[in-house]
Amino acid sequence: MRAAIFEKFKAPLEVRQVPDPACPADGVIVRVKACGVCRSDWHAWTGADSDVSAPHVPGHEFAGVVEEVGKECRRFKAGDRVTAPFILACGACPDCLGGDATVCNHQFVVGFSGWGAFAERIAVPRADFNLVPLPEAMDFVDAAGMGCRVTTAFRALVDRAKLQPGEWLAVHGCGGVGLSAVMIGAALGAQVLAIDVNLEAIGLAADLGAETAIGLTKHYDAREIEEEIREITGGGAHVSVDALGITETFHNSIRGLRKLGRHVQIGMPLGPHAEPTVPLLELVYSRQITIMGTRGIPASRFPALFEMIAAGRIDPSRLVTNRIPLEEAGAAIAAMNGYTGSGITVIDRF
Ligand SMILES: [Zn+2]
Ligand SMILES: [Zn+2]
Repeated sequence: MRAAIFEKFKAPLEVRQVPDPACPADGVIVRVKACGVCRSDWHAWTGADSDVSAPHVPGHEFAGVVEEVGKECRRFKAGDRVTAPFILACGACPDCLGGDATVCNHQFVVGFSGWGAFAERIAVPRADFNLVPLPEAMDFVDAAGMGCRVTTAFRALVDRAKLQPGEWLAVHGCGGVGLSAVMIGAALGAQVLAIDVNLEAIGLAADLGAETAIGLTKHYDAREIEEEIREITGGGAHVSVDALGITETFHNSIRGLRKLGRHVQIGMPLGPHAEPTVPLLELVYSRQITIMGTRGIPASRFPALFEMIAAGRIDPSRLVTNRIPLEEAGAAIAAMNGYTGSGITVIDRF
């Protein structure tokens, strides 16, 4: 099959023939119809993610059609339209059985633990547990565009922060996952404040339901941002998310919370951002804020997200701003060296 592969970290992706994946007995082979291009793919490509070894095929935000079914798979058949979360879980451990598949100890992360979906086909193990049937009305590009970003934002706000109507939500960083948080937050009835250095992203956030925004200059003063958030939200945000994963956005997020506020860490903090300082006395102890993490979504929560989409409360297709052929995947990833861009790019030709 054709796949976009890199031989060494940071080497250009090359589209060439690679061996077809073998169908697991408990899994399926999916013919990939669409796959999102994400900043996590860039992390994998640069070698920043320790799970990834080269040569490697990235891609974890796929949708497609079941082509082959292993003999132990019961719920799916050839021709089914499907997607899957990027964290494929074991389906049998206490975490999985308790509904918390994203913290499964035996997880396989598509496009990281193994080769991903910048390819014509991908194997999905333990398909009965991990595969998600696509609603008929949802096309492959929209499903892939929801990728890890809309699903992660949904879990962050609905399942983790339990964001309530009327609450203030501050979104720090308006790339794909930040914009998804803006859209879902607004749909949940929260008042959304979007914060970014990129004015184009701020404009998109406003289109997607942000009530107000702060456009940061490059050399902003952290205390001034805190004051501005407090003023806009009447004392601080109830819920605040760091959708980027760097020390500055994390600090801005926890500092902009009101007393008893909830911070959700959505962005993956890598390298020098892995262990930022936390003002334990001032924020966690005195203001009694909560700091929580989130990563991915279990397959079992897709139906709730699909319901929200079917009811017209959110429209993830609005986030997809670029459709490209497989040959352009490498350039799309390399472009993330600099400015991340706003909106989501999806590969739709393989
Ligand atoms: Zn498990
Ligand atoms: Zn992703």
